[in-house]
Amino acid sequence: MENVEVFDSPGKGRGLRATKELWAGDVLFSEPSFAAVIFDSLADHVCHSCFRRQQKLQRCGQCKFAQYCDRTCQRAAWDEHKQECAAIKTYGKVPNENIRLAARVLWRLDKLGGVVSDMQLTTLEDLEDHIADMPEDDLKELKVDIHNFLDYWPRNSKQHNTDTISHVFGVINCNGFTVSDQRGLQAVGVGIFPNLCLVNHDCWPNCTVILNHGSQSAVNTMFHSQRRVELRALGKISPGEELTVSYVDYLNVSDERKRLLKQQYFFDCTCEHCTNKTKDDLKMAGQVVDGVEVPNEQVKEMTEYSLKMIEMMEKARFDGNYHEVVKICRECVEKQEKVLADTHIYQLRMWSTLSEVLAYLQFFGEAATYARKMVDGYMKLYHPNNAQLGMATMRAGVTHWQAGQIEVAHGMICKAYAILLVTHGPTHPITKDLEAMRMQTEMELRMFQQNEYVYHSMREAALKNQPMSMMAEPVEEGIKNLFRRK
Ligand SMILES: [Zn+2]
Ligand SMILES: [Zn+2]
Ligand SMILES: [Zn+2]
Repeated sequence: MENVEVFDSPGKGRGLRATKELWAGDVLFSEPSFAAVIFDSLADHVCHSCFRRQQKLQRCGQCKFAQYCDRTCQRAAWDEHKQECAAIKTYGKVPNENIRLAARVLWRLDKLGGVVSDMQLTTLEDLEDHIADMPEDDLKELKVDIHNFLDYWPRNSKQHNTDTISHVFGVINCNGFTVSDQRGLQAVGVGIFPNLCLVNHDCWPNCTVILNHGSQSAVNTMFHSQRRVELRALGKISPGEELTVSYVDYLNVSDERKRLLKQQYFFDCTCEHCTNKTKDDLKMAGQVVDGVEVPNEQVKEMTEYSLKMIEMMEKARFDGNYHEVVKICRECVEKQEKVLADTHIYQLRMWSTLSEVLAYLQFFGEAATYARKMVDGYMKLYHPNNAQLGMATMRAGVTHWQAGQIEVAHGMICKAYAILLVTHGPTHPITKDLEAMRMQTEMELRMFQQNEYVYHSMREAALKNQPMSMMAEPVEEGIKNLFRRK
């Protein structure tokens, strides 16, 4: 570990700090998962080895639970599956994701001891479990999990006392990191990355964390796991400066962020942005009409109305009723735009959903209009190198491309590419996609400038082979909460 060291962060316990000067996009460390599992709900849809979403998967002939793309993926995963495979067979059913992960963690610990490599800055024993802070309902669930774990854990594996087992469950509960699919678009599982657990929270952090599954090749499958997280610098960092990431989405007002952090991670955020309530005013602001701001009372009323509409919209979206989503959003947006500022977070929420769903329903022109409003608002709120901003800008760029607005599209794709070079790095699959799109849109833009008619007929043809398969269905945008907690 040449870039970071562990230190005592005042008021926060252990933390990590930089040992040398770093710049935007520098990788502070890269770490493989100690253990990881697929969510129960996606166990039939995602390869248990490479975490790719697949239409057709091959089931493990022994346990009939694990599923893989092919023999290569199965072979690569065998080391971390083999004890689980036997345990599931004996147990006769599949335990939940927490229990599966706890068992994988303990098998790994038993095999390798606490410290897997000299790159690891902490042992699992030294990580916080926050069991003492758990509310009663969570404690009850924990007891049930431990009970089931003991039934599942094989007689011939090393036996552990209840304290050790509950510590592992506690660590998973507060430090389990959401693992996304290959393209970083959907949360598909949960894993433990010990070094990452040492990075403290700040609502306006100097680092970001990104999961990179790496490219798959014959050589790679020899390693235990290709799931790695990278801690990347968002800007200049001085030697001795504490390294932080944000555990929650910045598009919440400070009180809401503090509430989420307390509830999910058991601490009171005292970061500068929370203390000064930075940008809270923008996130709740009213529209200015002819130099006069809309009265407070009206803004408040519209805010409450928006919240109700967001709930209805979420429900329709969950049911996959996209035409209903559009109806609700349109109705709400029409009212919001007269009262709320273009940085009001509930308005941004509606614009984001509306543009995404309209693009899915192939109303590209209207989708592009809202996507642009969304990106303009995001740029006033987010850190210029925020990953969510990068992803949203990419989506807006693709929508403009689909709408035939090539100049705006190319500009947005270039902007998104610049952000993702910092937050995701040049080897991430999404960054590579963006690079290809940047070249394609640049070529089309040149064509457009030379001859608009030829360009439009070319575009018709190009649209037939969808620019990106990821746009096929609206998925939850990015991974909003870093660590997974119910
Ligand atoms: Zn696979
Ligand atoms: Zn199996
Ligand atoms: Zn904060």
